[in-house]
Amino acid sequence: MPHEPYRALYLHIPFCVKRCNYCDFATQAIEADSPVIDEYIEQLVLQIRQKAKEGELGHIETIYLGGGTPSYIGLSRLSMLLYTLSLSLRLEPDVECSMEANPESVNEHLIRDIWALGVNRLSLGVQSFDDDILALLGRAHSAQDAERAIICAQERFDNISIDLMAGIPGQSDESFKSSVERALDLGVSHISIYPLTIEQNTPFYQQLIRGKLADTDDDVQAHHMQIAERLLQEHGFERYEVASYAKPGYACKHNCAYWTGVPYLGLGVSAATMTQNDSRRMRIQDGQVTDDLNRAQMFAEDIMLGMRMSAGVSDGLVEQAARELPKLTETLTSLVRRGFIEHSNSAWKPTEMGWLCGNELYGEILDLAPGDF
Ligand code: SF4
Repeated sequence: MPHEPYRALYLHIPFCVKRCNYCDFATQAIEADSPVIDEYIEQLVLQIRQKAKEGELGHIETIYLGGGTPSYIGLSRLSMLLYTLSLSLRLEPDVECSMEANPESVNEHLIRDIWALGVNRLSLGVQSFDDDILALLGRAHSAQDAERAIICAQERFDNISIDLMAGIPGQSDESFKSSVERALDLGVSHISIYPLTIEQNTPFYQQLIRGKLADTDDDVQAHHMQIAERLLQEHGFERYEVASYAKPGYACKHNCAYWTGVPYLGLGVSAATMTQNDSRRMRIQDGQVTDDLNRAQMFAEDIMLGMRMSAGVSDGLVEQAARELPKLTETLTSLVRRGFIEHSNSAWKPTEMGWLCGNELYGEILDLAPGDF
């Protein structure tokens, strides 16, 4: 279908040194020198070149190399990918180019070279600075490896994000708090905090059903999120999205694209593409259409996603959406009454309670235009 230009590009690198106990992402543990990785990267390079020829990459403003563990595939393959990107689109400093990396595969050469090849934002999968928690999660690195990786990355990058995990069974408040404090001491510019979810088809799920792992506890997770919010805000971080904190100027533009209805192109196994025009939005993954939304459903989705962000949803967008969603104003007013959202400075914004009860908040908004989300 005729569609708006893609403005965000995601490349999926589905390889890791080992699988973590909680992971249900599309990735595989594989030897670093496997020809499978070479073939995959060659295919990815061809796909990037093809999309460039088709004129699909001319408006890309953000790039994200995610996984899996992109840093695991090594410098020569990453160089090939980044060089291909530089030939295929405008890879200038104003284009945010993020790459995910895990501490055990970060070294000085990698940092120096990916920076020189155009990566300007590094997202490190740290999860915790507590070695017992890291062992429980099945991570391939220690807390010391994570510290070393951050310090090493800071030689070139000022835009460094780390992921931390909250509400892990057996993770004390003290352990979680000291991980956040350690991140602050190290001076990273962005922190994402995810509560652990135990997904089926993971070792954690097997442990859970055998009674060897306690289930996650919503109250503990909410408490950890509150600890993080307090500490990070005291240190000048803004919680700009339910799980994302940034120092001023360091919000992730690529992730913001996902939350603000910006069309994105995903290349590689399991990478989602979102394509849209005025009346239709589709998401496509591995050649299959996974979502096909009409105009009313698009507005409901945009408002739902906007409620993940502290900026919320502008009056202007609500006014436009209300033409397609007749019960929108009534629903927003009811959500205000129940304390899930508030209206201030010409926008409807989630409250702390709205974020804590996210499923209820997001569900009610999506219900305004029922469909296959
Ligand atoms: S490093 Fe990330 S993608 Fe790889 S197995 Fe662990 S959680 Fe999954």
